Amino acid sequence: MNQLGTLYVISAPSGAGKTSLVKALLDQDKQVCVSVSHTTRGMRPGEVDGKDYNFVAMDQFNSMIEQNQFLEFAEVFTNKYGTSQVWVEQQLALGLDVILEIDWQGAQQIRLKMPDCVSLFILPPSTEELRKRLTGRGTDSDEIINQRMSEALSEMSHYPEYQYLVVNDDFNAALSDLQAVFTARRLELSRQTMKQAKILAGLLSE
Ligand code: GDP
Ligand code: ADP
Ligand code: 5GP
Repeated sequence: MNQLGTLYVISAPSGAGKTSLVKALLDQDKQVCVSVSHTTRGMRPGEVDGKDYNFVAMDQFNSMIEQNQFLEFAEVFTNKYGTSQVWVEQQLALGLDVILEIDWQGAQQIRLKMPDCVSLFILPPSTEELRKRLTGRGTDSDEIINQRMSEALSEMSHYPEYQYLVVNDDFNAALSDLQAVFTARRLELSRQTMKQAKILAGLLSE
């Protein structure tokens, strides 16, 4: 029997490096995929509809809420963001691991619905560095950056609700920390017993 994939919930203040870390992880790990959220925010330069986000109008988002299409949704920085329930369930059923890059409000909803999920919070090494990264990314106006900086404190105050905490100071060190969490989960006894059934049978039969 195929084991269901694991659902990973990753949160961080905007600019901490969550998208870059998840992208690097995906490049090296073919068993995992990332959920493409729906959002009402405007597209940033360089973003692609259907790849970075599914960009939708507020009316469409609201009708998706009415039709119970979201596993979770939340309002972040005056925009709405939500995760497609059908898509996530399909990937998990195929045995793939799925990453949700969502805010703390969404993470709370997921923990209630999917208690078996693994949750991880990413912190920047300092407030100054966070501002530097948001500015350096070059995708947001000063006004938006200031708004995100002021929201960062309230987002970060939720870190104790997560099972794992990664500080993204050196990028490669943070990436190996992230990979370690995925590896540990896959080595859990219940998963290994299924995956290594043949080896176990060979070793333990007389
Ligand atoms: P970035 O984090 O600076 O790249 O900014 P984004 O606009 O990509 O994300 C804004 C916020 O929305 C972040 O806190 C995300 O974690 C959150 N977010 C993105 N997608 C979802 C989603 O599907 N559901 C929820 N609840 N939050 C989301
Ligand atoms: P988020 O998705 O959390 O908003 P991003 O992945 O977009 O964050 O990263 C914000 C910016 O910081 C990007 O320009 C990215 O290249 C940069 N960045 C990410 N991690 C590091 C790091 N460890 N050191 C320096 N810059 C980083
Ligand atoms: P950005 O607009 O910079 O891409 O994202 C801003 C914030 O929205 C980030 O903290 C991100 O994690 C969050 N976010 C993105 N997609 C979702 C989503 O589908 N659900 C929730 N709850 N938050 C999301």
